[in-house]
Amino acid sequence: MKTFAAQIVSSDGMFYYGRLKNLIIPAVDGEMGVLPGHEEMIIALKEGIIRYQDAKEEWHKAAIGQGAIQFANNRCTIVVDTAERPEDIDINRALDAKRRAEEKLHQKLSEKEYRLLQSSLARALTRLKLMNQDRV
Ligand code: ATP
Repeated sequence: MKTFAAQIVSSDGMFYYGRLKNLIIPAVDGEMGVLPGHEEMIIALKEGIIRYQDAKEEWHKAAIGQGAIQFANNRCTIVVDTAERPEDIDINRALDAKRRAEEKLHQKLSEKEYRLLQSSLARALTRLKLMNQDRV
């Protein structure tokens, strides 16, 4: 069975370390699949849901913030600002963050404030999407 080495690191520490058979990532241009033996790459990741299949063929998913992925020598390293498994997500916190961001988006903002807020909203929406609460 072909696998590749993978580590997912967030600002909270090591999120995942192990071997994977399959990985689906939210690249800036859209979802992208990564299989063993993938060609070398370094690409940016946007806020979204990451799905990965471990060596036991079990699929897992997580909400991630912005970051990057590197693939080289059958080894994948993902560095993201945040990463949460479904069981770790606080839905009310994400709903509050979404409401706060949406309210502030109506205010006068600098370009930097606007970008940070968009990113915060995207993280909240991703967390809600992972929990199937994104239509609230
Ligand atoms: P908030 O405004 O609620 O803090 P945020 O998007 O600004 O949300 P982040 O900066 O993305 O928060 O994350 C800070 C830390 O809190 C990270 O460890 C992240 O994994 C965690 N976190 C943020 N929101 C949630 C949530 N809804 N459920 C669980 N963990 C969360």
